[in-house]
Amino acid sequence: MTDKDLLDQLRIDGDPKLSSRDTADTFGWERDEAEALFAEELVELVELQKKLFADKSASLLIVLQAMDAAGKDSTIRAVMSGLNPAGVDVQPFGVPTDEERGHDYLWRIHAHAPEDGYITVFNRSHYEDVLVVRVKGFVPEKVWKKRYDHIRNFEQMLADEGTHIVKIFLNVSEDKQKERFEERLERPDKRWKFRLGDLDDRALWDDYMDAYTDAIEKTSTDDAPWYVVPADKKWARNVCIARILRHHLEAIDPKYPDPDSEIDFDDITVT
Ligand code: AMP
Ligand code: MG
Repeated sequence: MTDKDLLDQLRIDGDPKLSSRDTADTFGWERDEAEALFAEELVELVELQKKLFADKSASLLIVLQAMDAAGKDSTIRAVMSGLNPAGVDVQPFGVPTDEERGHDYLWRIHAHAPEDGYITVFNRSHYEDVLVVRVKGFVPEKVWKKRYDHIRNFEQMLADEGTHIVKIFLNVSEDKQKERFEERLERPDKRWKFRLGDLDDRALWDDYMDAYTDAIEKTSTDDAPWYVVPADKKWARNVCIARILRHHLEAIDPKYPDPDSEIDFDDITVT
């Protein structure tokens, strides 16, 4: 499958049709093959990030959204490995603090938008304000309904000012989530990840899918596109995400800055 075919399949324009997407799609790859492809992609990502960091003329914002146990943390671990940590910022957004709640919902988000040269990953984001907030009824419908417009405008502003935006929904199945929750309950090294509230959210699965459908449909734009990535198989997921990121970094086309033209490099001796 060519890069273009893959990205066309993952990129959303309109209704994401979540209920009919295969969460375990492997795009014809065997596991070994996918792992080898991923390793190759990482080499490319490392080189592109070096240039982005040196160039300092644009930034990349990756918005990562998903249900619990869909693999947000493991995606970040896998895809960011090997990148220069000096140029990467991973920003989680949890339940807002009192101070954050006292402001508009974009206030805490904007403060963490990347500066030129950086790759920032939002682990959850302003989308929670049209997802959990909508599903749990934390604000009335007339309040959250207006937020899709705010979000589109906010992201367009960031894009117009030099931030490239990629939004990724890790699409995991209910069955796979159950399996991963059970693993979290069984394994002492994974229990710390489990919260009772996770089960409440799981019970509201269909409401979350409706909220995700609306959020994705209403905010996928040319400058801030949504991608829906099948997330049941981590090795296939990693290749998809690395390809999406490479595509966007190549579109930024970062370059090492020109050296100082006053310097005759061949004529200098370091003593
Ligand atoms: P996790 O990312 O699984 O560690 O958990 C973070 C929790 O914070 C999730 O249950 C989110 O639903 C919750 N959260 C994130 N943003 C908001 C928000 N704006 N309002 C309410 N809850 C939020
Ligand atoms: Mg969680």
